[in-house]
Amino acid sequence: MSRTSFPRTLADWQARAAELAVESRAFIDDSFVAAASGDTFVSINPATGETLAQVASCDEPDAERAVAVARRAFADGAWSRMAPGKRKKTLLRLADLMEANKHELALIDTLDMGKPISSSLGDMAGAIACLRYQAECIDKLYGEVAPTGEDSLALVLREPIGVVAAIVPWNFPLMMTAWKIAPALAAGNSVILKPSEKSPLSALRLAQLAQEAGIPRGVFQVLPGFGHTVGKALALSMEVDCLAFTGSTAVGKQLMQYAGQSNLKRVYLECGGKSPNLVFADCKNLDQVASYAAAAIFHNQGEVCIAGSRLLVENTIRDDFVERVLKAAENMQPGDPLDPQSFMGAIVDETQHRRILDYIRQGVEEGARLRSGGKAIDGPGLFIPPTVFDGVTAQMTIGREEIFGPVLAVFGFDTEEEAIAMANDTPYGLAAGLWSQDIDRIMRVTRRLQSGQVFVNNWAGGDQTMPFGGVKQSGNGRDKSHHSLEEYSELKSVWMSLQSS
Ligand code: NAD
Repeated sequence: MSRTSFPRTLADWQARAAELAVESRAFIDDSFVAAASGDTFVSINPATGETLAQVASCDEPDAERAVAVARRAFADGAWSRMAPGKRKKTLLRLADLMEANKHELALIDTLDMGKPISSSLGDMAGAIACLRYQAECIDKLYGEVAPTGEDSLALVLREPIGVVAAIVPWNFPLMMTAWKIAPALAAGNSVILKPSEKSPLSALRLAQLAQEAGIPRGVFQVLPGFGHTVGKALALSMEVDCLAFTGSTAVGKQLMQYAGQSNLKRVYLECGGKSPNLVFADCKNLDQVASYAAAAIFHNQGEVCIAGSRLLVENTIRDDFVERVLKAAENMQPGDPLDPQSFMGAIVDETQHRRILDYIRQGVEEGARLRSGGKAIDGPGLFIPPTVFDGVTAQMTIGREEIFGPVLAVFGFDTEEEAIAMANDTPYGLAAGLWSQDIDRIMRVTRRLQSGQVFVNNWAGGDQTMPFGGVKQSGNGRDKSHHSLEEYSELKSVWMSLQSS
């Protein structure tokens, strides 16, 4: 099959995978280099157990070098002071290169962390759209002229912050990366990206494309490695001005401490969730709602920050509705991630696989009713089928903690008031869903849900125009939309005294 043709079948993707060559060195100061220590870590395809690459394992010396390079690049102004229109063109060129290479990028993510190829292709569309949106914003956001008397002129200018370290997770490797680096670069910052140690490879391919697009030397660098080594070094650096993080709440808390211990760098956090999905009895098409409710948790093997992991159903329809969810879940079984027909793929690694199975065991032990799934699928590869528990309560571990796997916890409620209280009974506040035909109820409940985003009669709706982020312990930042571009800039107030005539 030619490299330019569109891969459509499992065999097409397997052929592409067989000829794939990946970059596995760090990208520092415009060159691909080994880690200073020479250390590497292994990247494994979780669907097969095969080794994909030995990847440079960066640590403190690599972080120090990259930060010095980023600082120098910021000071020399080749990017930070570039005319906005020119910066826009460069980022649009990067988006075009991503588009031209989207099959390869999607393939890398699928092989690296096990998600189905259809989902990786969706991520590429999202990542490219994000690059284009942020690039287009560059020459459309204005500063301000403040209202003053005639003897003054007061300007509010937006300036880049400096050196931004972006630390990202593995569940949507390239898309989460784009959500950080697109606005941070668009605002004129130097960016150091630390991908997850579980999915480092697409970030390194992105570095090749960034170089080809003409992003100036030292403005974009990629340091693969572990959180407690290179991630921590970046977070503690006195020369990093901003940390843009997506990952767990526990690590987000650590990063805030590191910022306090070092230079009070800005810390934008996108963290975990345990999102409620509320289904009221007045819904019209229950089959369709059930199918959305199943996809809300089983998409991407449940390894989704906004997974609809708590399904809250009005008790009058609960038994019937759970049956419909079970039926929908039957069609969402895991399969070969390279098969375009697979809805779910492999779990990212053995640690996560074990963790999910531990939660399932606790669910059974604590008295929830296991209605489907619950057991690992025999290898090779790390696969868990859609698992549904009914009769879950907020006291149960599976009712409270983020599992980050294909495990749905179903709760019942009798009144609207009870549903709202249950939905908000969580330390998280990332997303919530609400299904009803009653517009008065929709507005009443939406306003009272403690959540960064509310999906009404859909799940995960949204595009680049909408901010994405959480409240409570789900974080304090916002990805996407012009609001994220604003996060990566400083306001400078300029008050000029004028001669009055
Ligand atoms: P994680 O917190 O373990 O790791 C995230 C990143 O932080 C990785 O790159 C890791 O190497 C790094 N890291 C870990 N310890 C560090 C330290 N001490 N110092 C600096 N960096 C460190 O999370 P994960 O397992 O990669 O991802 C899953 C989590 O991410 C889930 O909780 C999920 O909800 C969350 N997530 C949130 C969003 C969102 O937009 N809110 C999106 C995707 C994932």
